[in-house]
Amino acid sequence: MLKSVLIANRGEIACRVIRTARRMGLRTIAVYSDADADALHVAQADEAVRIGGPLARDSYLKIDAVLDAAKKTGAEAIHPGYGFLSENANFAEACAKAKIVFVGPPASAIRAMGGKSEAKALMAKAQVPLVPGYHGEDQSPDVLEKAADKIGYPVLIKASAGGGGKGMKVAQGKADFRDQLASAKREALSSFGDDRVLIEKYLTKPRHVEIQVFADAHGHCVYLFERDCSIQRRHQKVIEEAPAPGMTAGLRQRMGEAAVTAAKSIGYVGAGTVEFLLDEDGSFYFMEMNTRLQVEHPVTEFITGLDLVEWQLRVASGEKLPLAQDQLAINGHAFEVRLYAEDPDRDFLPQTGTITHLSFPPENGHVRIDTGITQGKAISTYYDPMIAKLIVWDLDRPQALAQLRRALAQTEIGGLVTNTAFLAKLAANKAFAKGDVDTGFIGRHEKELLPSVPAAPDDALVLAATGILLRERQKGTRDPWSLMDGWRHHGGGHDHLTLIDVSGGQTAHKLVFDYAKDGFLFHLKKAVLPVSATLSSSGKLTADLGGRRLSAGFASQSDDVTLFLDGVGYRLKRAGIDLGEEDGEAAALRIAAPMPGRIIAVHVAAGKMVEKGTPLIVLEAMKMEHTLKAGHAGKIEYVGCKPGDQIREGQELLRFAAPA
Ligand code: ADP
Repeated sequence: MLKSVLIANRGEIACRVIRTARRMGLRTIAVYSDADADALHVAQADEAVRIGGPLARDSYLKIDAVLDAAKKTGAEAIHPGYGFLSENANFAEACAKAKIVFVGPPASAIRAMGGKSEAKALMAKAQVPLVPGYHGEDQSPDVLEKAADKIGYPVLIKASAGGGGKGMKVAQGKADFRDQLASAKREALSSFGDDRVLIEKYLTKPRHVEIQVFADAHGHCVYLFERDCSIQRRHQKVIEEAPAPGMTAGLRQRMGEAAVTAAKSIGYVGAGTVEFLLDEDGSFYFMEMNTRLQVEHPVTEFITGLDLVEWQLRVASGEKLPLAQDQLAINGHAFEVRLYAEDPDRDFLPQTGTITHLSFPPENGHVRIDTGITQGKAISTYYDPMIAKLIVWDLDRPQALAQLRRALAQTEIGGLVTNTAFLAKLAANKAFAKGDVDTGFIGRHEKELLPSVPAAPDDALVLAATGILLRERQKGTRDPWSLMDGWRHHGGGHDHLTLIDVSGGQTAHKLVFDYAKDGFLFHLKKAVLPVSATLSSSGKLTADLGGRRLSAGFASQSDDVTLFLDGVGYRLKRAGIDLGEEDGEAAALRIAAPMPGRIIAVHVAAGKMVEKGTPLIVLEAMKMEHTLKAGHAGKIEYVGCKPGDQIREGQELLRFAAPA
């Protein structure tokens, strides 16, 4: 058995690999960029080595720096995790040359599956079924368009070097083919430095079902059943589960055997995943093979009772697979949800910011949390905006789903917009409970799922205001008789503060209140509400609202407040602090860049009237294109950007005219 391993990754996957490696008695070595000097994976490893600057290409993608770190610390092996160098054949080769064990397949197998087009050609040879498509060398737009015409619309344009749903665009018909092609090529070039694409028939109601395979260097290869990853947005996974709902033993065996054939045909060793599209009629088609551990491997671990990282380390040590195919069985049902810093209500736009509050349900035999971040840390533009994975297990799908709902209701992430409430809505959706899943699920059920966070109700606003008042009283930074910034005296002895409901369409709410002996009196539209409350240092707010007892979570940092009530996190901004003199109404009239990036397109001009939901500006940030839409109807007063502009976070891009 190996004695030491360097983990060439960060975040939750680095922590997850460290956990198993330590349990098996290996010395663990972390690497980190300047942005991660105090990250969790660094703290958890036995040793840690700085490898460069915050940009991935200056650190986690630098082959020499990673190998130097391994040599310096005498690491016997390198586990690449997923992403970064995990599917880089040159890296696997460089490890071999440096006599360091690469925990993964041989470079030749990575290369064989590296390009989607080349992989498809190989699979066609091995008689693994493929979606009809064009995977040719000739990339001239005319040839590609002709191929699309021949395949028949709708077609999917995919970056050949693609991954993570990037560089993937659907053309519904001939009319939008060229635009979609240009957009796919742009994304492909900026993400992968390679703008080659392939075209394939776009299946309209497929499921994404993938098979976990495992091979050793002694000629054994098994499949550890399937995962259904059909619940996706932007062609990226949101919920994964195992086994796949409605799967039959016969189909499972056919798909499992096809996956093993695929793996064997390229001399595979280690953990791999063969992804298939499963059509409504039960036909399945090879999509691609991921030659590494997947993000969603924990659901397979839950239903098989195995530790896949342990298997990886054993195989890398030269051992045989611990179990044969007939010794493997499925027990119960598991779900994984990916908690992302992103805004489902704005086209899943990635978010950045500091996590001011982080609280998960306790881990046990039913609940597992894989995370690499702690409270107080930031989600930056440098890396993927995933915060954590929540994985649950139970004896069957309905019970596992109930576990998921409970676990999500106990998940509190404050300080930035996350998809937690959206996941909770998915987990509570009737069609999802029936297992009626396919890759179009989210689009089809959009009306039931969005907005994921409802407009903040009065209770949430009053509780948030109460939290703010109590926190400042605790800190001694505020007493009612010495009013400072952000506080305006309202005539007649009342005070007020303004909260902008960030998730609820930037609506500004002015809360008028008086100080009472043991709390506050809020003047709501129809009533006066006496409130008394206590706030613990960990953010637990226990309040009496006119005789009703409520319990909520409260997190704040400068002007930013998150209030957790009944499983929903309401994101509120307090006007009048960091916004200078701008009040909530004014803030709602401007569209500011949600993150640094580059303007791709501007769809409106000053003077135009727009409806709520009209696409205004397309922004490229974090290597994806995002469309900023109008949060409300109105007249555009001013557009402050043009295509090609580099913009900074918070920069004003557009302003609405004030309503007359
Ligand atoms: P990536 O490597 O970028 O993740 P994949 O090839 O794995 O891209 O595809 C990602 C997702 O895109 C799939 O899970 C599926 O939802 C969708 N998809 C891919 N190919 C097709 C297709 N031919 N028809 C319909 N949907 C597809």
